[in-house]
This record gives sequence, structure tokens and C-alpha cells, in this order.
Amino acid sequence: MDKIFSKIDNRGKLDRSDLVELLQSNLPGQMEKLCRKAYDVKSAEVGKRVYFRGIIEFSNICSRDCYYCGIRKSNFHSKRFNMSDEEILTAATWAWENHYGSIVLQSGERNDSPFVDRITALCRKIKDLSHGELGITLSLGEQSPKTYRRWFDAGAHRYLLRIETSNSHLYKNIHPAESGMEQRIACLNHLRDAGYQVGTGVMIGLPGQSAGDLADDILFYEKQDIDMIGMGPYIVHNQTPMAQTAGEIDAGEQLNKALKMIAVTRLYLRNVNIAATTALQALDPLGREKGLLAGANIIMPNITDTKYRAAYQLYENKPCLDENSGICRSCLEKRIKKIDESIGYNQWGDSPHFYQRKLELPDQDDLLSRGDRTGLNKSKIDA
Ligand code: SAH
Repeated sequence: MDKIFSKIDNRGKLDRSDLVELLQSNLPGQMEKLCRKAYDVKSAEVGKRVYFRGIIEFSNICSRDCYYCGIRKSNFHSKRFNMSDEEILTAATWAWENHYGSIVLQSGERNDSPFVDRITALCRKIKDLSHGELGITLSLGEQSPKTYRRWFDAGAHRYLLRIETSNSHLYKNIHPAESGMEQRIACLNHLRDAGYQVGTGVMIGLPGQSAGDLADDILFYEKQDIDMIGMGPYIVHNQTPMAQTAGEIDAGEQLNKALKMIAVTRLYLRNVNIAATTALQALDPLGREKGLLAGANIIMPNITDTKYRAAYQLYENKPCLDENSGICRSCLEKRIKKIDESIGYNQWGDSPHFYQRKLELPDQDDLLSRGDRTGLNKSKIDA
């Protein structure tokens, strides 16, 4: 382990066996050391600054049947909802007025044309109401290249589509036959071609998933040239088929695995954006802060109207079901101050990796005219 740490200090390239060893380590004190190293890399590459993406989980209507997910179409216990445009725009306005740089629109997956048209119109309206200032991330599943392009042209500039696991056998075990992994990878490529900053991620601690699988997930992010990572622990939902087969999962172990995965991903990929996801907090009240200390730099505060939150249960024990957006903001501010980090208000907080891969610095005049909301510092990208 010490050999790997000195390799990191000397900026040597880690190989797969290094990643596996780091992910497997359970020796006392190693976890702290790993997180400290990852935190140093984060501070140097993306700064000690957290960016907020206010997430609006606007509908749990879904055409898919993923075996792990609480809003899968065959869960007949799930009470379905669909927020109105007005409710969505009210939440977006709140985010803008409260200086959040970006929002995320997430829902169950639908591919019908009224849905596609609706999202196109919503992106335009959100851009209009915020004078172009709010960044928009979409998390709406697998769509056609044409749909991705339409939404990009309407103003969305980032897209999250998790690969869930890069192990094709495991992927088959947790998805119905019609949901193939090749299709998902093709979608990630289409998103990149359309011009998005592309985010993906996995569930950590899936039944049957090994440290080798997680190492391969990190290599998959690298191979796909991913800009942003959103990953979190797998948490059982009792009304899903996987609840029958998952067996007992220890929450503490699951949290540790997820934190290790964040730290090792930061060490290996360095300048990507990594989210400290809400699922971490479902396992530990301080889960998201621990995620930041392990190398994450993004938080997605829930700004959905509280009356809909209980129905958007992808997994059980989801936190903050009854805290409105204002309470959530001040609670997060306090928690972030406590760990001595700042919040990148009014900034998009784009992934430096995106600009590096495009070998294209944002035009400084263009940034100024938009009030430089990328949160990118030219010298940092040059370095
Ligand atoms: N329809 C969108 C959004 C899906 S929900 C899409 O397909 O991308 C966002 C993420 O929640 C999923 O990608 C999955 O990784 C995660 N998720 C779903 N069920 C979960 C569970 N039981 N435990 C942990 N994460 C889960």
C-alpha cells in the first residue's frame, strides 16, 4: 500500500492491480490515509469548493423495469406523480434566486414525443427565466441521438446517464433483457457527440460485485473520457425483485466501500467533477460531508416540492423527505463551512476535464459576457 501511495506522490500512473488493492484495503488507518491523499488531489485540481446542482425530481412515471429501482414500472405500490410545468419552473426560479449555479432535471424514463417536446420547452423556459444564467443538467435516461441534440440546442449542457456497472454479466443480472448494456454505451457516445459534458457512474456494493469490478468501472470512466461522475451505494428497495436476492447488506460497510470508490476515482482521474450523492446520506447523516472529504466536489440539494418527495423513492431511507429547499440550503451551508470549504454560488462549476478533452479553453470574452459562470480559472486549466 505504501508503494502505491508513493507512486501517487510522484504522479506515477496507477495500474489496475493498484486500484484493486486500494479498493480492497481494510487495514486500520488506511481509509483515512486514502481519503487524505484524494483530498489533496481534489484541492490541487478542482479546489476546496463545492458546487450545488439543485435537483428537481419531477416525475416517477417510468417505462423501464430495472430490478433495483423503486420507481420501476412494475412496482404497482408506487404512487405515480408528474409535476406541472409551473411547479418545475417555480423550483428553477427558486434555485436561480438563491444563487445556485445549476439545476438537474431528473425523472423516470419516457421516450414519447409529448415528453420530449415538454423537456425541450422547459429547457428554453428555464434559460429565459434566468437570463441564460442557470446551467441545466438532464438525467432522463436513454434517448435517441436526435432527442439528445434537441435538448442540447434548447439549453441543456450536461447529462447524467449511469452505466450502473461496467461488468456485462452483472449488468444483465440487474436489468431486464430488453435493456442492453451496448445501448447504454452507445447513448454515452451520442451524448458526447451532441456536445454535452457527460456524466456517468455506478452503484457501489451491488450483490456479486467485486473490488475488481469497481476498478474496471474506474477504467471504464477513463476509456469513455467521462467528465463527471455520480455514483453512490446500492440500497435495497423492498418492492423490487433485487430485495429477494440481495440478502443482508451492512450499512457501515456499504458506506465505506462508496467512500473508497470516490477517493480512488479522484486519485486516478484527478480533474473530473465527482458528486457526493444523496444515497451516501441515506446510510449516514454525515455521508455527504464524508464524500466531500473523500474527494467529491459536487452536491445535488433536493429542491423538489416536499409533497412529491416521498413518492420518488428509488431506494429506501431516502433523507430530507420533509425539509424544504430553504432549510436544506442553510443546513448544507453550515455543514460545508464546518469542513472548511466554500460554495461556488452563481457558477456552473463545469468539469475542467471537459475543457481539457476538447483542448479548448473557454473564450474569456464569452465568459465575461455570461458573467463567467463556469467557475473555471484559466491558469488551472493551463496547468
Ligand atoms: N431515469 C433516469 C434517472 C434514474 S434514477 C435514468 O435512467 O438515468 C438515477 C439513479 O438512481 C440510477 O441511475 C441508479 O443508479 C440510482 N438508483 C436506482 N435505484 C437505486 C437503489 N436501489 N439504490 C441506489 N441507487 C439507485
